[in-house]
Amino acid sequence: MGGPSAGEDERCYKIQTVSQSREGVQGTSTIARLRLGHTTLSAHLHRLRLSCDHFCPWCRTIPEAMEHFLFQCPCLLSQHTALSSRLSALAITTLNLPILLAASAGIHLSWQPAVLRLTCAFLRKTGQLPHL
Ligand SMILES: [Zn+2]
Repeated sequence: MGGPSAGEDERCYKIQTVSQSREGVQGTSTIARLRLGHTTLSAHLHRLRLSCDHFCPWCRTIPEAMEHFLFQCPCLLSQHTALSSRLSALAITTLNLPILLAASAGIHLSWQPAVLRLTCAFLRKTGQLPHL
């Protein structure tokens, strides 16, 4: 049972599953922190007096808050555009925090995993997923 090639396949599959699930766990815990407002975004750290610089690290013009980072920062415009066009494919045209975190009653239950995947993809693209 199971020649060398089958063993190889199984190993590849296991490695892939582990890396996918690690990323999934990181994404899920990030979403949970975003829902609670516990992030390392500058404005939050400033409120907790952990950082004396509360300005957005990208545009340096506005105190960074989650809404600015997720919807408004001009330096992240291309990522915002990509996110909103993917969401509009799910017939989601309103962008706000509860919707992006799939915490809104306006999102059908069956779409919530897809919305969270898109939000995590956005966080990954901005390089913020490991830092939030
Ligand atoms: Zn900014």
